[in-house]
Amino acid sequence: MVSYTPTEEVDFVVIGSGAAGGIMAKELSVAGFSVVVLEQGGPGCYGHEQDYNKDELLGMYPAPADRLMSDLKLQPNTYRKHAGEKAGPGSSRYGCVLGGGTVTYGASSWRHLPYEFNEATHVGTIAGTGMADWPIGYDELEPYYTKAEWELGVSGLRVDSPFFAPMSKPYPVKPLPEKASGALLKIAAAKLGLTVVPNVAAILSEPYQGRSACVSCGMCSGFGCQVKARSSTAVTMIPIAEQTGRCEIRPHSYVHEIKVGANGRVTGAIYFDAAKREVFQKAKAVVLSANGLETPRLLLLSKSAHFPDGLANSSGLVGKYLMSGNFSNANGLFEHPLNEYKGIVSGAAIMDYVPTDPKRGFYGGGRMTGRGQEEPIQYGVQGPHLAPKWGAEYKKALREQANRKLTIASFITQLPLETNCVDLDPDVRDAWGLAAMRLTSTSHPDDVKCMEFFRQRSLEILDAAGATTVWAEPVSDARGGAHSRGTCRMGNDPRKSVVDKFHRAHDVPNLFVVDGSSFVTGGRNHPTMTIEALAFRAADHLIKATKSGNV
Ligand SMILES: Cc1cc2nc3c(=O)[nH]c(=O)nc-3n(C[C@H](O)[C@H](O)[C@H](O)COP(=O)(O)OP(=O)(O)OC[C@H]3O[C@@H](n4cnc5c(N)ncnc54)[C@H](O)[C@@H]3O)c2cc1C
Repeated sequence: MVSYTPTEEVDFVVIGSGAAGGIMAKELSVAGFSVVVLEQGGPGCYGHEQDYNKDELLGMYPAPADRLMSDLKLQPNTYRKHAGEKAGPGSSRYGCVLGGGTVTYGASSWRHLPYEFNEATHVGTIAGTGMADWPIGYDELEPYYTKAEWELGVSGLRVDSPFFAPMSKPYPVKPLPEKASGALLKIAAAKLGLTVVPNVAAILSEPYQGRSACVSCGMCSGFGCQVKARSSTAVTMIPIAEQTGRCEIRPHSYVHEIKVGANGRVTGAIYFDAAKREVFQKAKAVVLSANGLETPRLLLLSKSAHFPDGLANSSGLVGKYLMSGNFSNANGLFEHPLNEYKGIVSGAAIMDYVPTDPKRGFYGGGRMTGRGQEEPIQYGVQGPHLAPKWGAEYKKALREQANRKLTIASFITQLPLETNCVDLDPDVRDAWGLAAMRLTSTSHPDDVKCMEFFRQRSLEILDAAGATTVWAEPVSDARGGAHSRGTCRMGNDPRKSVVDKFHRAHDVPNLFVVDGSSFVTGGRNHPTMTIEALAFRAADHLIKATKSGNV
């Protein structure tokens, strides 16, 4: 494998190796460029995936070397509802390993619908929001969705419906087997006139490109995949990048500054290596793919004489318009065992409430997914419904309920508000002495109504599916997390956006921000397929621009 010295000026440094970074590294190195990928997390089980453990306790309390998710003890973050309040401890975590969030994610891989790129044109302004059109439309991204689905490996069924994005090509792999959740949603849908489709997942239903199909182990989201059925960038993109002989992957490299030269161009990145030594990697251009939370934080940490308010931040919008994604959950208990713990997390979805409907009295929509996958310890700690927390009655309720519970999890719109943001906490530092990220977030009143709408519909659906008991906790607002996006929005106007439509920072000609942070509006949550399509498109344009001397 190739290895560069930090003083050697490579063509590109890519910061982060997740959904977007893995694709950028592969595309740029295949196109002939020298690339160094700086990833703060470890290599995980890269190249020996069979060793990923399925130990739930280890997964909950991993030793640092086994860490697949960010560690709040090492990298704390803080949260508050409104500016002006002192932030308290936050709970936001994301995938922190070679392959980023794609190593452990649930892998639901929905495309945005065409109108989700120009919602402002469709609905006009919504008071109090920064609703805006994207500078690109669905048609421009469609070929890259197809490329992402085929290069990564996505299982699904193309459906001809207004609730489904139009596709120029079917999915490369057939849908995963139907689970009890799918069968029960269909019973309800038949009574209520709703539409059920199989989940679209970046998890293989049959062997593809030398990788195995899902073996339904049931320890899926939150765990590494031992048979490489989950199409993470660590098993799809990164091996191809390395095989070019032009891409060096450097795990345990925590970037804390993107360096700017006298001419205002970036010159490389400074990172802490595993021994906490500072290293400067020189590069002709930098691709920042550290996710919707860490990307704005790193730009804000990268202050310089040229950029006293943070790199690429002349608009003052770095970190603003955070959308972490709202959810609503409802649960039902059924007479018969469901065996929902097997297979992928979410087997089927109800699509009818994806579009917004003015009759509902608020803006927003979402996808309802049926799921019942809870690992035994997680379920035991959380406890059965309306049961004591210990003793004989607790055990009896565990036995009765554990395999009979179905949850409808809805993934719904969160409107972009300028006041919802990521910035640097003035009081809290991480284990390297850097300012921690602070999240400020309160959803728009329409979002709260939207969550409540989905909560009510989910209870009705569970009822219609034949649940013997149904319940739902009160809705609660997003507080950050791995679906965060929108914090370096793209646009044509440098005063109103951070990057242009090709992900180039308006302020810095050789800095490219490619990840969930460039979203303008959030879609119906589940951001990763759109992040991946955007990355393929960004790489295409970056390669052409570089080859024509325009970087
Ligand atoms: C348990 C779980 C389930 C999920 N399920 C789904 C799902 O079903 N569908 C869906 O669409 N999404 C899901 N997600 C979200 C999904 O993982 C993210 O949307 C996606 O990974 C984001 O891609 P990204 O490229 O923006 O960032 P990431 O994939 O998060 O990659 C960013 C990488 O950058 C690294 N990094 C950050 N800061 C630095 C730094 N300063 N220096 C060096 N490296 C750095 C990080 O360690 C990380 O590896 C899930 C996430 C989790 C954790």
